[in-house]
Amino acid sequence: YDDRDGKIWMDGQLIDWRSANVHVLTHAMHYASSVFEGERAYGGKIFLSRQHSERLRYSADCLDFEIPYTVDELEAAKAAVLEANGFSDAYVRAVAWRGAGEDMGVASKRNPVRVAIAAWEWGNYYGDAKMKGAKLDIASWKRPSPDTAPSHAKAAGLYMICTMSKHAAEAKGCSDAMMFDYRGYVAEATGANIFFVKDGEVHTPKPDCFLNGLTRQTVIGMLEEKQVKVHERHIMPEELEGFEQCWLTGTAAEVTPVGQIGDYNFEVGALTRDISESYEKKVRA
Ligand code: PMP
Repeated sequence: YDDRDGKIWMDGQLIDWRSANVHVLTHAMHYASSVFEGERAYGGKIFLSRQHSERLRYSADCLDFEIPYTVDELEAAKAAVLEANGFSDAYVRAVAWRGAGEDMGVASKRNPVRVAIAAWEWGNYYGDAKMKGAKLDIASWKRPSPDTAPSHAKAAGLYMICTMSKHAAEAKGCSDAMMFDYRGYVAEATGANIFFVKDGEVHTPKPDCFLNGLTRQTVIGMLEEKQVKVHERHIMPEELEGFEQCWLTGTAAEVTPVGQIGDYNFEVGALTRDISESYEKKVRA
């Protein structure tokens, strides 16, 4: 991803893609003092753009640093990136981190906060699995307790266990992994929230130790509009066997049907297809 033409916004200006580099003594690289956003533009307009910028600032606050740009400034920067690269449908990645500077220990208050925004064209996150139903492994890593890590922040440090889980899943021929939380309840996939269907009603884990995704919230709103009952609750592993349908939600994943989790199978049913199609319409509305 580093060697290509284009523009990236970095610390207040658009620069050449290949020049958007940092020093090896960047605090974030050693201590994970980094937060980010994943957003999608449809027809040149980022879906829930302000909410993403607000969440970026909130995540930084959780990690004890402040982004030196307002939401309005971040909005203008994102628009500039899309325009400079001529993108209409694109994935937008905003990232903010503690840079290199006076401090090289764990504390980093004297190091500057850096911000960058890049965008690229990114199709289906799960490739062919998108409409056939993705195959998920069950991760051996657990989502941590909210008093162990800032689990509601979109913080880079939390993705270490996601990357390890996804690598293990791919080694088994799966496209992602479903993770349990520290108590053993069903939590989410490595970059997406999870929903289940049983007897026409929807069940989804309560987001009390992982990201309450914007797509998740959007989909819950859509289900309520369709008068489908949604239960946000703790889901036990034994319940997986009884669910009929399953899908994932995320900005990158959009609404992706799941066909299999470990030994459990799910059908890509009518409600799953309906929600996936309705979401596609909504993001472009
Ligand atoms: N959980 C994790 C771990 C994620 O990385 C994402 C993607 N940001 C989500 C859930 C879904 O969040 P959103 O719908 O806001 O993209």
